[in-house]
Amino acid sequence: MEEEVYEPVIGLEVHCELKTITKLWCGCKNEFGVEPNTNICPVCLGLPGSLPVLNEQAVKFAAMIGLALNCEVKPSIFHRKNYFYPDMPKDFQISQYDQPINVNGFLKLDKNVTIGVVRAHMEEDTGKTTHIGSSGRIHESSGASIDYNRAGVPLVEIVSAPEIKSAEEAKKYVSELRAILVATNTTDGKMEEGSMRVDANVSVRKIGSIEFGTRTEIKNLNSLRSLVRAIDYEISRQINVIKNGEKVKQETRHWNEDASTTVPLRSKEEADDYRYFPEPDLVEVDLGNDIVRQLKQSLPVMPLERRQRIIELLKNPNEDSAFIVVDLDLDGLLLEVVKQGADAELALKRFSNEFAGYVEEVKALQPERLVELLNLEQTGQLSATQAKAVFAEMLTTKSSPSQISTGLGFGGLEDSELSELLKGIISNCPNEWNRFKDGDGKVQQFFIGQVMKATKGQANGKVVLSLLEAMKNS
Ligand code: ADP
Ligand code: MG
Ligand code: ZN
Repeated sequence: MEEEVYEPVIGLEVHCELKTITKLWCGCKNEFGVEPNTNICPVCLGLPGSLPVLNEQAVKFAAMIGLALNCEVKPSIFHRKNYFYPDMPKDFQISQYDQPINVNGFLKLDKNVTIGVVRAHMEEDTGKTTHIGSSGRIHESSGASIDYNRAGVPLVEIVSAPEIKSAEEAKKYVSELRAILVATNTTDGKMEEGSMRVDANVSVRKIGSIEFGTRTEIKNLNSLRSLVRAIDYEISRQINVIKNGEKVKQETRHWNEDASTTVPLRSKEEADDYRYFPEPDLVEVDLGNDIVRQLKQSLPVMPLERRQRIIELLKNPNEDSAFIVVDLDLDGLLLEVVKQGADAELALKRFSNEFAGYVEEVKALQPERLVELLNLEQTGQLSATQAKAVFAEMLTTKSSPSQISTGLGFGGLEDSELSELLKGIISNCPNEWNRFKDGDGKVQQFFIGQVMKATKGQANGKVVLSLLEAMKNS
C-alpha cells in the first residue's frame, strides 16, 4: 500500500500585553515584577458595584497594532466571557467577540509568504496564579497564591488564519509579529516575562486534501523554542494517531517542556460554554476616521522594510544579520555609518556580532568614530582582532580609534620590519618555505602564526600574507 503523506495546518493566537501606563478599566499602574497585590483596586479586583472606565491609550494602541497588521479598524463593542477562575474574581472576562476592533489583516513573512490575520481584539488580562509545589502545576501542588497585579492589564489577541505550514514558519510568524509590535512601541514583546504568549492550533491532513483535519490547541507557549518543539511534537503525535486508525480528538493540550510532550487539558465535550453577552457597563468604541488616520500616519517604518534597506546595500544579502541589527534598533546608525563611507558588508558583520552586546554604548558613540574604526579594519591597517580590541577601548574612552590603536601599539609595524622578520623565519624553516613555494596553502597559517608570535599579535595577517606572496614571486 502506498504510504500516506500528511501536512500540518497551523493557526496561532498571540496575546500581548499593552505598554499603557495604567490598566484597561481603572487607574491602577500597569507594571511587571512589583510586589504582589500592590497595583489593585475594587475595579480590577471585580468587587460588586465597581464600574469599568475604558482606557483611551489602550484603544489607540490596539488600533495601531491593527493598522500595523494591515487590518481594517472598526467600531467595536465588548462582551462578557463568563467562567469561574480564582484569578478572575468577577467570574467573567471582558473581551471582544463578534465585533472586534481590528479585522481582515495580514502579516508578510517575506516576499513570497503572507499569513492572514483574521482579527486582533482587545481584552483584559487575568491575575496570576502560582501553584505551590514541585512542578508548579495544579495536580501536584499543595496550594496556590494569587497576584492580582496583572488583572485588568490591557491585552490584544491576534488571531492568524490557519495558513501556517510548519513549526519553523510559526516561529517566523511570531518573530515577525513580535518585531512589528515592538516597532509600534505598544508592547515590549517579552515572551520570557509573559507579555507575549502564544496558543498554537495544530491539525494535519492528507496532502492534497482541501478539508482541514481536527485541531488541538496547545496553550501558553512562552518561548520560540517551546513553540517549535510543541508544534513538531503535536504534528507527529496526530499523524501517529491517524496511522493507528484512530481519530484526533478536538481538545486543549498543555506543552510539558521537561517531558517534551503535549498532554490533554480539557476536551471539547468539557469545553467551556462562555455565554458571551454584551458588556452592559460599556458603550460602543469608535475612534473615528480622523484618529484612525492620525494613528496610521504615526506608525513607524516596519521591520521588514528596515531590513530591506540594509539588504539593498549588500552584495551578498544576509537576512539573519539584518534581522539582528533591526531587532537591536541599530539599523539607523548602520545606514548612517555606511553613508559616511564604511563598507556595508563589514559594518553589518560587526554591528550584528561584536557591537550587538553593547547597544547603548554604541548608540552613544559618534558615527564618525565607528566609520574610522571600520575603515581601519577594511584597509587592513588593523586586523580583525586588533579592531575588536580598539572597539573595546572606544566604549570607555573618548579617544579616536587611531589614537587608541597607536596607544595599544597596533599598526606600528612597518612593512620593512615585517619583511626582515619574515626573512629570518624563512631561513629558519626552509622545509615550510619550500612547501609554501610549491603552493601548499596550509603552511600560510604557519608563517602567519610565527610572525604573530614574534610580534605578540601586533602584525596584520593580511599584510603578512601579501609580503609572503611577494617574496615567493621575487
Ligand atoms: P475558537 O474561537 O474556537 O478559538 P477560531 O475559529 O477563532 O476558533 O480559531 C482559532 C484559531 O485556530 C485560529 O488561529 C485559526 O487559524 C486556528 N484554526 C482553526 N481551525 C484550524 C484547523 N483545522 N487547524 C489548525 N488551526 C486551525
Ligand atoms: Mg481561541
Ligand atoms: Zn485597579
